[in-house]
Amino acid sequence: MSFKGVVRAQCPKGCEESDYEVWSFVRGDQSEDLRLGVLAGDLNLARCAVCGQVFFPDCTLVYYDLRVALIAFVFPEAYRGDEVRWRAKMKEDYEQMRASLGKELQLLGEPLVCFGLSELSAVLRSDDDLEDEVLVARYAAEALGYRMRPVQRDFARARGLPRMLPSKEWKEGAPFDLPALLKALRALLKSNGKLKGYRSWLKELESAKTPPPLPPAGKR
Ligand SMILES: [Zn+2]
Repeated sequence: MSFKGVVRAQCPKGCEESDYEVWSFVRGDQSEDLRLGVLAGDLNLARCAVCGQVFFPDCTLVYYDLRVALIAFVFPEAYRGDEVRWRAKMKEDYEQMRASLGKELQLLGEPLVCFGLSELSAVLRSDDDLEDEVLVARYAAEALGYRMRPVQRDFARARGLPRMLPSKEWKEGAPFDLPALLKALRALLKSNGKLKGYRSWLKELESAKTPPPLPPAGKR
């Protein structure tokens, strides 16, 4: 369930401090409205109680979407200068969440750390665009006799790459075969040269020594 918290903040014009209600934990997989708020970049936008100026009170948001295996800690933009400290804080908080949420979190991989909501919006937009590309690629790959197979999501996301790769035959849990994967990607790009994300995959893997990681068992 998503929930709100209260933060004490001062508007950029320097009016007297006031309390503001902000979302501090958002389940993107349970509330499309809140997910769209993140995408639009206006989630947690507040209006100064004194002068009416709109602004983002400094607050930390945890964004969570199990469908796309995403957990993100969003710190205020102003905290970027102290990134090392906030990453350490995230690790601490995440350990506590792991203890209470348990198994679900095991499937998510490393949390994403963002400074400012716009960084998270950009990730969600990129995820959505890549998902469109996966749909097109799936169609082309199936016409060539390939099936699409998932890659560990945080690995793909961190590199801005689509989360599915073409594969001819594969056994559940067996790793990708790198030469076969390169061959499949070249065939896919030959049939559709507009698949930018897959071109990036090819580039990434041509210099790789190990195949891309599979998602944790049980997550498909
Ligand atoms: Zn004000």
